[in-house]
Amino acid sequence: MINLRDLTLKEMEEFITKMGEPKFRAKQVFQWIYKGKTDFREMTNLPEVFRQKLAEEAYIGTATPLKIQKSKTDGTRKYLFELEDGNLIESVFMKYKYGNSICVSSQAGCRMGCRFCASTRNGLERNLTPGEILSQLMAAEADTGERIGHIVVMGTGEPFDNYDNLKKFIEIVNDPKGLNIGMRNITVSTCGLVPKIERFSKDFPQVNLAISLHGTTDEIRGSMMPVNGKYPLEVLIPACRAYTESTGRRITFEYTMVSGVNDSDADAARLSKLLKGMLCHVNVIPLNKVAESGFDTVSRKRAGEFAELLEKSGIVATVRRELGADIDAACGQLRLGKN
Ligand code: SAH
Repeated sequence: MINLRDLTLKEMEEFITKMGEPKFRAKQVFQWIYKGKTDFREMTNLPEVFRQKLAEEAYIGTATPLKIQKSKTDGTRKYLFELEDGNLIESVFMKYKYGNSICVSSQAGCRMGCRFCASTRNGLERNLTPGEILSQLMAAEADTGERIGHIVVMGTGEPFDNYDNLKKFIEIVNDPKGLNIGMRNITVSTCGLVPKIERFSKDFPQVNLAISLHGTTDEIRGSMMPVNGKYPLEVLIPACRAYTESTGRRITFEYTMVSGVNDSDADAARLSKLLKGMLCHVNVIPLNKVAESGFDTVSRKRAGEFAELLEKSGIVATVRRELGADIDAACGQLRLGKN
């Protein structure tokens, strides 16, 4: 059985012509799926016989909400979804002035091992398929009854460690015949898998790229993120510069602030030097404290001062707004079995 949400429109055309049906049927099915239908019987413009045949060979995979936590303060909703094989993943729906956004997971678990992050504690379970990444958005739209126009791939998992499925996911959500979410409304966040940064710049020059930086020396960054051993700053930063030059797009650097580790004035000065002249923006994030990590957060006041130091030296910087704080929906707090 094939999950039709795993297929791009082109793949669906191939699948449906192989079934001996005319190609235009694929477009019809595709349109129904992204209008939210999950039952072939509801696809009323398809011949009955074709619907039955489809049901024998394919299905429309869904993510089942096991738990939905709703913030009382800002409309944020955190979802715990169950996948078909019983794996659990989390997503966060957020309301912004410019519209609704969803933060999706790209893997069940993660193998990057960042020491301050809750999502990597139990390692990687498996990659999510394109349809499983997508189903998080479809299920949140069904639950809220609202359209979601923005996607951030910043939930559990390292998207560039699941590159091919991420690529298909972006192609499907971007398709004008389906959800039609613009490339510029999608943001992918990576811990810095350098070869994929270059590939991404060619595949999706319009999709926003965020890089988790967090440290300004290999010693500091390495103490927080094991991936720095493989791709240290001397390779990461030039790859980022090359990205901005080839795409003409600004990179967002995420800088999670940890007390006594990367929060000094000297860190701010090194950061400005490191990013000098690059088309970029720094998003300062006070660490969301994760139990047993041994890392402490900084005050919002200190985060503000840090951003100001960056601004003074010519680097655009903002402190990330905290949404869904009352439901543990903030970055780095998505962890299976936590609640
Ligand atoms: N693997 C990708 C995307 C998922 S993490 C990446 O590393 O970018 C999304 C962001 O949340 C990253 O910047 C990550 O470093 C940050 N993050 C993880 N745990 C956090 C925590 N406890 N507090 C604040 N930010 C955290």
